[in-house]
Amino acid sequence: MTRNVPSSQEPRSGAALTLEDVTLTYPDGDRPLTALDAVSLAVAPGELVAVAGPSGSGKSSLLAVAATLLRPGAGRVTVAGRDTARMTDRERTALRRERIGIVFQQANLLPSLTAEEQLLAVTHLRGGRVREARGRAGELLESVGLDAAKRRRRPHRLSGGERQRVNIARALFGGPAVLLVDEPTSALDHERGERVVELLADVTRRHRTATVLVTHDRALLGRADRVLVMRDGRLAEA
Ligand code: ADP
Ligand code: MG
Repeated sequence: MTRNVPSSQEPRSGAALTLEDVTLTYPDGDRPLTALDAVSLAVAPGELVAVAGPSGSGKSSLLAVAATLLRPGAGRVTVAGRDTARMTDRERTALRRERIGIVFQQANLLPSLTAEEQLLAVTHLRGGRVREARGRAGELLESVGLDAAKRRRRPHRLSGGERQRVNIARALFGGPAVLLVDEPTSALDHERGERVVELLADVTRRHRTATVLVTHDRALLGRADRVLVMRDGRLAEA
């Protein structure tokens, strides 16, 4: 397989996700709390960037801004070449649905749906599209390690690691350009956590997503192309 990560000479416009001088503050009593302090980041298609850093340093805030769930107070966020600041709320929602995959700490699967249905529930299906979508859901679940029997199970009959795999497959279902992952291994033991990180590295290559993986577990950083550290809202090379 060919890796096609742009070298540093190439323009940043080749990145699928960019943050430029992004600042985010939360209201906090008399003084606002600065969660992100002039953060810049560019992630290319097929690149896995890990962000480490202590609890409270701003990692989840970084993902919320990259996901266009929070608007930065200053700075610029572009996703798949589009400046998100100029978009309406409706356009941002569409961008999130079509171009951004989000994997949070807890899988947040719907208890009444099978693994396959979790993926299908995110699409608005019409007519002949159903069969095609089912095929694709099955393939994606297979590719993250769920066999045919497990694909028909509801979440309570899957292990924590398997639920997180369904979560990852669901995030990939729409064919996102950007994959944002927040502490996906915190509910798993070390070995299962490692395998989930391996899977994320693998899907980043195969689906050519620009992936940002947030973790406070330094042992999991070995699979990343680049490791950055967040400290007091500032992002730096590790
Ligand atoms: P991390 O994910 O690294 O633990 P967060 O991004 O969740 O860090 O938080 C960064 C800082 O912002 C922390 O001081 C946290 O308490 C604060 N914070 C996070 N979310 C909010 C919020 N909704 N309102 C006020 N402060 C917040
Ligand atoms: Mg967090």
